[in-house]
Amino acid sequence: MQEIEYGESDRILKILTAERGLITAFAKHSMRLTSHLFAACGQLCYSEFVLRPGRNTEEKMYTVVEAGYETDFRDIAYSFEAQGVAMYMMEFTMALSLVEQPAEKELKLLMNCLYKICQKKTDPKIVKAVFELRMMCECGFMPQLLACRSCGAYDGDRFCLDVEDGCLLCADCAAKENKSCNLDKGALFAVRYICLIEDKKLFGFRISAGSAKLLYAAAEQYALAHMDKQLNSLKFLRSLSAWDPDQQSKKG
Ligand SMILES: [Zn+2]
Repeated sequence: MQEIEYGESDRILKILTAERGLITAFAKHSMRLTSHLFAACGQLCYSEFVLRPGRNTEEKMYTVVEAGYETDFRDIAYSFEAQGVAMYMMEFTMALSLVEQPAEKELKLLMNCLYKICQKKTDPKIVKAVFELRMMCECGFMPQLLACRSCGAYDGDRFCLDVEDGCLLCADCAAKENKSCNLDKGALFAVRYICLIEDKKLFGFRISAGSAKLLYAAAEQYALAHMDKQLNSLKFLRSLSAWDPDQQSKKG
């Protein structure tokens, strides 16, 4: 997975790898159509790389010796929203990933979510919410979801996912702490499901349109509470009027 900066015909790639996390690599002449690196070094590609470490070890810049194209996620171009969510998930994963630290789980989740968007069967907003919550869990920020932190209530029509403290509060306990409820029954079920289910069943839940709106908002708030960087792709997503349900209803 790469982010690309353009030179004349060379590219500097930011590659998210399973083994070494986020790395930077120089791909000489890879912008030339005749280059054997051209296809494998594109954005939203998944490729196999043979890399040579740079001479200056402090720079941590690799050189791409060989690159073999395996697959790509360019099918997301069917809508701005799908594209926007894909770019957001990529930027988000890269912002979280550290240099020279394995990122196998993060990469797997990202690929799984990109694949879902390509399939076009799942609303990109659902994919985004699943990605946000699950990524936080993979990075060690799983919220405490068993029951209300204060009184132990397990279920209820309205709950608060406290995004700062990473815990649940029932409506009564939330009111005592001057916090507002952001989940209904369906959204609470979905949050628990997404955080706790095994990988291969990650998208196996159903949710009503009303609960889904709450899920989108809570998942994003929770993820952004743990993200200390500005994400340009999020600005783009918010700029899409179709993204904003209020805008859309105003248009009728
Ligand atoms: Zn309570």
